[in-house]
Amino acid sequence: MKIKIDRDLCIGAGTCVALAPNTFELDDELKATLKDNDKKDPEEGILAAAKSCPTLAVILENDQGKQIYP
Ligand code: SF4
Repeated sequence: MKIKIDRDLCIGAGTCVALAPNTFELDDELKATLKDNDKKDPEEGILAAAKSCPTLAVILENDQGKQIYP
């Protein structure tokens, strides 16, 4: 699964970080960014994080590049 964040949409609500803390973090601008580490969150957690985003700023694609959320 490929994860993208539309930082123009992100309002720093932080629910993605709460639900998938190994995948997302807030940066100095209080906008979500992808965490650079080896730890992984389960796909369900990442999907839950995307669904939790109030502005639909988390975009998920499958391995074939097809958008699966939102
Ligand atoms: S849940 Fe959405 S708005 Fe909130 S920090 Fe994550 S990407 Fe940004």
